[in-house]
Parts: sequence; structure tokens; C-alpha cells
Amino acid sequence: MSTRNPRTETIATIAAAKAPEPIVDYVQHPVTEVFGANVFSDTVMRARLPKATYKALKQTIDEGQPLDPSVADVVANAMKDWAIEQGATHFTHWFQPMTGLTAEKHDSFIMPTVDGRAVLEFSGKELIKGEPDASSFPSGGIRSTFEARGYTAWDPTSPAFLVDGVNGKTLCIPTAFVSYTGEVLDKKVPLLRSSEALARQALRALRLFGSPARKVFTTVGPEQEYFLIDKGFFLQRPDLINAGRTLFGARPPKGQELEDHYFGAIRQRVLAFMMETEMELYKLGIPVKTRHNEVSPAQFEIAPVFEPSNIMNDHSMLIMEVLKKVADNYGFACLLHEKPFMGVNGSGKHNNWSMADSDGNNLLEPGTTPHENAQFIFFLTAVIRAVYQHADLLRASVAVPGNDHRLGANEAPPAIISIFLGEQLNEIVTNLIEGKCEAGDHGGCMEIGVNTLPQLPKDTTDRNRTSPFAFTGNKFEFRAVGSSQSIAGAQIVLNTIVAEAIDYMATKLEGALQAGKDFNSALQSLLQDVLAESQAVLFSGDNYCDEWVEEAARRGLPNLKSAVDALPCLVSAKARKLFSTYGVFNERELESRYAIMVENYVKAINIEAQLTVTMASTMVLPAAIKYQQQVATALVNTKQALGVLAAVPAGAGSGAVDFTPQEALLQDITGSINGLKSAVDTLAAVHAEAHEAEGELIDHAVYFRDKVIPAMNAVRQYADALETIVDDELWPLPKYREMLFIY
Ligand code: ADP
Ligand code: MG
Repeated sequence: MSTRNPRTETIATIAAAKAPEPIVDYVQHPVTEVFGANVFSDTVMRARLPKATYKALKQTIDEGQPLDPSVADVVANAMKDWAIEQGATHFTHWFQPMTGLTAEKHDSFIMPTVDGRAVLEFSGKELIKGEPDASSFPSGGIRSTFEARGYTAWDPTSPAFLVDGVNGKTLCIPTAFVSYTGEVLDKKVPLLRSSEALARQALRALRLFGSPARKVFTTVGPEQEYFLIDKGFFLQRPDLINAGRTLFGARPPKGQELEDHYFGAIRQRVLAFMMETEMELYKLGIPVKTRHNEVSPAQFEIAPVFEPSNIMNDHSMLIMEVLKKVADNYGFACLLHEKPFMGVNGSGKHNNWSMADSDGNNLLEPGTTPHENAQFIFFLTAVIRAVYQHADLLRASVAVPGNDHRLGANEAPPAIISIFLGEQLNEIVTNLIEGKCEAGDHGGCMEIGVNTLPQLPKDTTDRNRTSPFAFTGNKFEFRAVGSSQSIAGAQIVLNTIVAEAIDYMATKLEGALQAGKDFNSALQSLLQDVLAESQAVLFSGDNYCDEWVEEAARRGLPNLKSAVDALPCLVSAKARKLFSTYGVFNERELESRYAIMVENYVKAINIEAQLTVTMASTMVLPAAIKYQQQVATALVNTKQALGVLAAVPAGAGSGAVDFTPQEALLQDITGSINGLKSAVDTLAAVHAEAHEAEGELIDHAVYFRDKVIPAMNAVRQYADALETIVDDELWPLPKYREMLFIY
């Protein structure tokens, strides 16, 4: 009986699998009914809270007023009753530590009574504050274990929700995570702080335009890309399990070159998965809207309708969690890594971003009157200035090791941050800079307060897909964010740098007005100055081509190729000043973020290096040696059978067999085995040295990038070469042609 290799078993299982059983039923449970069913929403609160309590809570949510403890008790009780009615037994403070993931520690509502029974309780105190044993979360040195502990604090601006489990539900309360000294340990607090900073400056600017708005907030719509592969394959890949990406794998005969996957028909198993994922997300009140096949085989996208950034930040984390959870129901593994497979596209998370006011006006929507247009150009210019001044910080916000495989690899924007405006807007900006619009309306001219903008195209035809930061009609799309990343980091930077730019411009404008200048002409010359100063960041060409790299260097734009190059920007004098001025991070907080991000880089590559050594030594080498043995034995046996023990030289007398091709095969295998073994030894040695190296954390990261990664790549090269010659039956790792196509 032939023993089948596990890869073949997996393929057989997939081949034999029946169509998935329907799990969700949109007739029985229409979207409109299901949507938000698991959310302690405004509607639920209004229905369940006494009027006064509801009003007080609303004031906290809308205006950030402190919550009275007695109000919290009433809210907690209503929340508990609602949760228990739906099958919840436990609650958890749900937070977003610097791991980049979410964290939860469940407590039941149970309270034993003296008579040996139990009641279910949930107090305002428990709602407002939690004290998880937080000593094991990354703090970048802020919270040494002996020092202050961390605590979680309820964020009433993001609604509580129920997470479904097979055997019941859990009440999740979005919380901020801070140290007792008041310093931030998570991603939510700085996001809230940055939103406030932006709101303050934007409101100030809006006042100058005579706007009655009470509030400004940022809106975000992240497009999440991901891969799905069969779980059977996944479980045979220690690299996917532990590092999230394949560290080995020869290029398959077919990749994405036929362009037959993008927007292709969605397979039944995948569609079933998508529809259950959507159902789960609808229940959580997450408005997912778009689903489609992406460029790489086995790659997909899900995108929600935009929401205020704090809520979308929570929702985006939930989208990632639900994708992974539901994938399991369909025998899939969902891969969120930026580059699970070499040679095909990686995954990103395009961050669509804008600002809106309390009256529902999008501040990056051009509007129709000269006045609205002027205001639009003001905010647009602020974003341009912000990105020009702090391109390095935007780059740093997406500096995770996975993204290094993606940015600049001709599938994602380069590491050079530039802005694409579209042809018409570009012309308007150029004319503004050149002062061509002083008198009368001609073509792409914009005399502030006089001209209106031409209708700007919002469809996708005019889009430059290679730009990292593109204006798309009424929002910007920051395309460099990695698929596995929390969107918080990019939002924090964007909000803060735009706050600074608006502050700068509003101050100038106020100054000019005080000096007696007329509003429109003061604005016109301000825009001219700011745009002229920042125009180097505008680029409409192909961001993937080499000429742009040279051109960008001439323009003085930063080109921070790797995460290691980018991360130190977080602690530059410029960054320290920016973040402390707007109260987003103090120096210690900023240094801790930096330390955590550098540490994460080192840890990620460290794991990859160890996996590479282990997998090469215990999986690839043994398979190759077995095959070497087979070929050698076959060669000897054949020669023996034919009565020749020594190789017969090519072209020897008739009747003689030429063994040189087979010997060449054996030499090939042997050469690759030797190469692999030496490369593994080198990697192990280089890796061992990494931990002896002295110096700053960033020096470690540099060492990992410059020494460890190349040593890993060398191992992979030999292993991948072996994959193309070793007997398929003997190969232990699922191959690209299987993982990417068989599901
Ligand atoms: P694509 O970029 O693929 O053409 P869309 O134009 O439909 O896709 O939008 C992509 C994302 O941008 C969606 O999540 C959408 O909700 C979001 N979006 C639209 N308007 C805004 C806005 N004002 N602020 C933030 N995100 C927005
Ligand atoms: Mg898009």
C-alpha cells in the first residue's frame, strides 16, 4: 500500500468535499433586521435607559462630558440585562494593546449569595474601569512591572457589543488602556487624542469661513485584503502558522500573470464564507459593503462603508477577527499578513480618509459655490502641506516588517510618500501657485471667492493606482497601510499632521485678517504660499518606475526603504514637537511606541530566522537527502544491472549507455544539498551572533535587516531550487501551485 503524503491527502479531501451547508439565511434573517442586533446601540439605549440617564450618557458620547458614577450604574445594569437576555454570561473590557491585536479577559456576571445561590450583577464601577493583569503587554519601558499597573477605561463613544460563541455570548466593552501614571499603553487613546486635536483646529478654521459646525471628526473606510487557503495546507506549513508568511516555496508555473483572478467569479466555498462573515459583521453593526476577488490567486477584499475613525478603528479590528474566525468554519485559514506568498501580490489596507462636520458636510467635498470651493481648497491644501512636512511619519506609521516585502515591490506604492490629485485639480493647484487666477475665470483657474471649481471626476477612470496617497474626489486614499495592521497608527499620524497644518494656516489667515486684509485675497495668497512650498510632494506619474525614485530624490522627498529606516522618524525632534504640541504623545509615550515597533521588527525577523533554520534542517534537507539517496541507488543499481560499474563517457561505442545526464542530476541535487546545508549553518551563526551584539535596539534591527534577512534568503534560494527537482511525493511542504489554486 502506498503511503500518501499529507499534501496529497489534503488535495483528496478537498476533491471529495461537498458543497458547504447553508448556515445563514437572509430570508429568515434579513440584513435590515440583523444589522446591529448584537450592539448596545443608540436605539437599545433609548429604549432601555431612563430618559435622564440616556440624556446624560448622550452628552458624554457627543460632547465628551464626564459621566456621573450614578449614571454609570444605571447604564451598567441596563447593559447587563440586555446582554443576559441574549445569552451572555460574561463581560470583558475589550482593548487594543500595542501588540496590534485586541485583548480580552472575561469575567462572569455571577455573584454568589450567602444562602449558597447566585445572582448576576454588573456595576457602574465594573463598566467604567477594569484592572487586567497587564504586566505582560508591551509598554516600551513605560510600565516596568514593579511600577504602576495598567487599567482599562470604558470608551462610551464606541458602542458595547456581544460576541457570539458556540455556547453563548460575551459582552464586550470597548475600552482605553492606560497606566496609572496616565500614560497610554494602547492604540485607542492616542487615536482619540489626535481626533480631538484635529477637531479643534478644523473647527477654528471653519469659524473663519463662517461655518456654524459644532464638531469635526475624521471618517475612515479601510479596504481589507486577505488570502484564504485550505486549512489542511495551512497546518502543514509551520512558517504560515508561526510567521504568517511562507518562508519557502518555489515560484509556481502559474501565478497571477493571466490576470484571471481579479474581479473573477467567486467560488462557492469562498462566497459561502463571505456571506457568513458578512452576517456576523452585520450583527455587530459593521456596514460591510464590497466583496471581490483580488489580483493574486486566493486573494480577496472586503470593504465597509466609512464611519467615524474611532468606531471604524474598532470595527476594522473586528473585521479581521471575524474573517479569521469564520474562515475556520469553512476549512479555510485566513491570512492577513502583508506578503504570505513571494512572487504574487501582497495585501494592503487602503485607508480612505476624510473630515466631516457635525452637519454632515465632508470637508474634502468640493461643494458648488465659490465659498464652498474656497473652503474645500483650504482643507485640501492643509492635507498637502501636512503630507509634505511629515511624509516620514506617514511612512513610519506603516513600518511593520511584513510591509517591507510589499512597498515598492511593483504591486503597492513605493516607500516614497507623494500625493496624486488628478489632472483637473492638479491644474488648479498649479495655476494657484503661479498666480494665474487673479482676474476672471479661465479654464482651471480659481480666484478665491469668485470662481467655482469645475466638476471633479469621482469615478475610477482618472485614478492613479500607483500613488501611495491619492485624492479620489472627496477623500484621500492612503494605500500603504499593511493588511495586518491596525488602522490606528496611520490615523493618529494623519490626524495630527493635518491638525498642525490647519493650525499653521488658520494662524496665518487670522493674522492677515487682523492686519486688515480682505478674507478672499488673504486666503488666496496663503494658499499660493503653502502650495508653492509643498508642491514637491505632488506627483501624477507612475510611482512604480525607477525615474520616480531619482526624481523624488532630486525633490528632496524621503525614501525610507525599510521599516528600520522609517521607524527612527517617530522620535525625531520634529516628531517630538509635533506630537507633544497637539497632546497626542508625550516624549515618553513616543519613545515607548518607537521601542515597541523596533522590538516587534526584531522579534518578527527573529522568529522567521529560527523557523527558516528549523524547517530547512528538519523538513527540506531530509526530503532532499532521501531523493539524493534514491537517485544514487538507482544509478548504482542500474549500472550494476547493465554490467557497467563506471560511467561510460558520452559518445562511447554503440550499445553503451550514457549515464552523464543522470549523474548530472545527482550532482545537481548534491550541490543544492551542500549549498542548503552551508546556508543554514551561516544563518544559524549569523542569528546566534545577533543576540550577542551590543548596542541600541535599532542597531539590532539593522543587524537583522542587513545580516539575518540576507542569510535567510540564501537558505530559501537553495530550498526552492530543490523543490523544483526533488520527487514531488517526498516534498513535505504544500507548494504554491497547490495552496494558491486548490481550495
Ligand atoms: P474604490 O476606492 O475601490 O473605488 P470606493 O470609492 O467605493 O472604492 O470607496 C472605498 C472606501 O472609501 C469605502 O470604504 C468608502 O466607504 C470609503 N469612503 C467613501 N467616502 C469616504 C469619506 N468621505 N471618508 C472616508 N472614507 C470614505
Ligand atoms: Mg480604493
